[in-house]
Amino acid sequence: MNTSAILPGATIGILGGGQLGRMTAMAARSMGYDVHVLDPDPMCAARAVATQTLTAPFNDAEAAARLARACDVITLEIEQISRASLEAAAEFAPVHPGADAVYIIQDRLRQKRWLSDNNFPVGAFREADSADALAAIVAEFGPSIAKACHGGYDGRGQARLSDANAAVDAWKSLGQQPCLVEQRIDIAVELSVLVARRANGEHVVYPPSRNHHTDGILTWSVTPAELPASVLRSAEELAPAIAKALGIVGLLAVELFLTTDGQLLVNELAPRPHNTYHHTERASATSQFEQLVRAVCNLPLGDPRVIAPGAIVNLLGDVWLHDTQPDIEFALGVPASRLHLYGKAGARPGRKMGHLSAVGDSSQEALSRVLACYRRLSPASALAAGLSGPPPQLRAADGALSVELAAVDRGNAAPWRGPEDNDTDREDVG
Ligand code: ATP
Ligand code: MG
Repeated sequence: MNTSAILPGATIGILGGGQLGRMTAMAARSMGYDVHVLDPDPMCAARAVATQTLTAPFNDAEAAARLARACDVITLEIEQISRASLEAAAEFAPVHPGADAVYIIQDRLRQKRWLSDNNFPVGAFREADSADALAAIVAEFGPSIAKACHGGYDGRGQARLSDANAAVDAWKSLGQQPCLVEQRIDIAVELSVLVARRANGEHVVYPPSRNHHTDGILTWSVTPAELPASVLRSAEELAPAIAKALGIVGLLAVELFLTTDGQLLVNELAPRPHNTYHHTERASATSQFEQLVRAVCNLPLGDPRVIAPGAIVNLLGDVWLHDTQPDIEFALGVPASRLHLYGKAGARPGRKMGHLSAVGDSSQEALSRVLACYRRLSPASALAAGLSGPPPQLRAADGALSVELAAVDRGNAAPWRGPEDNDTDREDVG
């Protein structure tokens, strides 16, 4: 393998030109790289930052090859790139992360099976290949979530079932295709952890983020997560172990559930920048976008430490669809706040249009500020998201963790303790 660095002046190709591609392109441009992008939408968010935008579907292998011919390295911002496209691009430039890892991750069922087969902790799941099979699984599991194998994101491509009677409608809503069925998990806290990894196996792990979702879509995220040390440790060990097993070069985000009985379970993986690490542009010594550039260009990885607690709240299309338009001027009066807009034309419900960020002296201050900013921007959206009242408290008034989390910290529950095999060479990285 060629291990020399790809230096500024070179061209980075990004498969996908959404907001993640746009913010990666901005980081790359700051460092002096040129950027080309491939996306099916000629008006994609990254177009304003890339010198060339190729308009083609993600399964157009010939177009992926054309992108790669003009670039020194290829990365991606979305996992729904066909294997044929990744392989065609790899004929002309290194593709990071590679086709094998992306292929495992891009199908939700294949990904869950891989995690389970490799002894990473996941909740109960099955494959359903008919409405009857789905009904039988839900009869066994109780409340469940059926997820389409391909193409779902931000809660789309999912059906929540409270009992087996819902199976026929759910099966239809998911396009009558084989799907992943998960037992509904009693979640105490959602968190995520991000690892960056170079071709030589060197890696850095970002401190976990604590995340809040509404109707399957991320609402806010804060770092540091302020969770029990045992949970943080487990999360910080899990992510590089998964990245190593997948052979990831670039970024891997691991979404995790901490269950009410104290287990740490993997929800899903993303081999790219992640919405729950957008605060790294403000909060961290190295943003996730710069880190991706460093990792795929084989440069020394940046320091992932938090330099100021930070938080974000997502701005969905809904913000622009109320009678009252967003009040940007009023919102930006909140100290240490920033507006990030992705340059997307056309606000639609649930479409990610941008985010707000804030930093503070503590995670609580950063979160309170960003939510205050959101309430000023769009009181109607804040109300709809249940965020119009006082901000959620990350800790009780006396500074203690909540009851469930305190139980975890006392060691009453056993989060992940490492792979069962004798993975002795884990220290070779990092
Ligand atoms: P995103 O793109 O925002 O990450 P997604 O469409 O990829 O979302 P998931 O991450 O699978 O979908 O699920 C979205 C959210 O739905 C989770 O963050 C969690 O809040 C909830 N959820 C998903 N699976 C389960 C489960 N098995 N039990 C309980 N809640 C779940
Ligand atoms: Mg998710």
